[in-house]
Amino acid sequence: MTCSSTGVVGTRGAYPREADNLSVVAETTEVTMDKIVSLCRRRGFVFPSSEIYGGLGSTYDFGHYGVLLRDNIRSLWLRAMVRERDDIVALDSAVILNPKVWEASGHVTGFTDPLVDCRTCKLRFREDQLASAQCGRKPSKHPGETPDCDLTEARLFNLMFQTQVGALEDASSAAYLRPETAQGIFINFKNVLQLARRKPPFGIAQIGKAFRNEITPGNFVFRVREFELMEMEYFVPPDEADKWHRYWIETRLNWFLKYGLRESMLRVREHGEDERSHYSTATSDIEYLYPIGWSELEGIANRGDYDLTQHTEHSGTKLEYVGEGGERYTPWVIEPAVSIERIFVALLADAYDEEVVEERQRTLLRLHPAMAPVKAAILPLISKESAGMVEPARKLYEELRRHHLVEYDDGGNIGRRYRRQDEIGTPWAFTIDDVTLEDGTVTVRDRDTLAQERLPLEGVRAWLDDALERPWTPPPKG
Ligand code: ATP
Repeated sequence: MTCSSTGVVGTRGAYPREADNLSVVAETTEVTMDKIVSLCRRRGFVFPSSEIYGGLGSTYDFGHYGVLLRDNIRSLWLRAMVRERDDIVALDSAVILNPKVWEASGHVTGFTDPLVDCRTCKLRFREDQLASAQCGRKPSKHPGETPDCDLTEARLFNLMFQTQVGALEDASSAAYLRPETAQGIFINFKNVLQLARRKPPFGIAQIGKAFRNEITPGNFVFRVREFELMEMEYFVPPDEADKWHRYWIETRLNWFLKYGLRESMLRVREHGEDERSHYSTATSDIEYLYPIGWSELEGIANRGDYDLTQHTEHSGTKLEYVGEGGERYTPWVIEPAVSIERIFVALLADAYDEEVVEERQRTLLRLHPAMAPVKAAILPLISKESAGMVEPARKLYEELRRHHLVEYDDGGNIGRRYRRQDEIGTPWAFTIDDVTLEDGTVTVRDRDTLAQERLPLEGVRAWLDDALERPWTPPPKG
């Protein structure tokens, strides 16, 4: 042990030497939706919405760390789709469009799910999801499984939310909240083609809220009625559509791998003819093995020339590409579409881990550093001003926060602060201790390995910059 000039007993050897005391709970941690929901609640990622009024089924509000995680998902998508490419431009179209858009696109008649009511338990189900739905009565597990279940014939239920524009409440003022952002892109095709001087293949990317009156929302934010879609419409010469469809499936799969989803948890599944949307020529889903089983993370559709042709017919404006040599055609469209919410749940499920350290369970999120809401925590070992650690810790914090999202934390004992940072997925913690006061070094603690090393204070910024650029692969789970 060392004795500092402030009289504080040295702590060089007194840190929890966590890495030495690591023991594995089980071969693999079972990640359940309940565990994810509970962590999100406990750490302020997500709250049930309107809670003080009893909530509103399957509607959620995002708290501080939830907002930061969403922000990372959004900006890393935009970076891959727009910033790092020459062939894709951004767009932000209105949520409420002329209702004729939705007639032309086929959503007014075709954006439906088959709805089935149970006369016995009074619950509603999607006919195509009966096998995975839970019946309201015991002992039946799935609707239709016991003689007591009395299901109606399926009827088509339109998922669009209707509203009114202006003060008049008649048919002429009816409008819809958009169920996808794609139509805002198609109706701007001509603007972008002319003003951005593009030529197929080129894309238009958009991020924004979408609304669907889902029959059976649930499984946390996996299926909600209000969500944020990230869509890109890639316009291509018709004879190149298959090639680009394959290209986007592979590109999007690689994006998920790059940001830490485990390869064994991802697969591509091609839609059968009966499941395809009304506009689709071919669709493949990137599926993730969520705690609820394999489910759609992202859809990559070949929409053919359906949308541009429909809008040309209904609006009278020709939406086609005319080349310099006079050649003209309606481009086909490849569309990767994913919601922030589905990525949010996949990242948390993939990152969630539990292990035992010093006979205490530690819960952590092994998030990719680029996705982690907070990149590093700055912790003075002793938070009393007189110990002399607060000042250098604040100084380091002020320097780092100008470049990265970092957090200063002086509340509670060091072990508890580490646990808190582990649970929100902070990859590194810099601890200012009495040795810092002697030799100007700090401890850096690694979230995944629990290894600790010392760095000179003035080198921390460069170390963090460098660490954030390093390639990262998901560590084995505890
Ligand atoms: P599902 O079959 O799960 O209802 P879908 O095939 O209707 O989905 P798409 O129309 O392909 O979904 O929507 C594109 C993407 O939007 C999906 O891959 C998913 O990431 C996301 N998404 C769709 N519906 C919801 C929802 N209710 N809540 C959250 N995300 C959603």
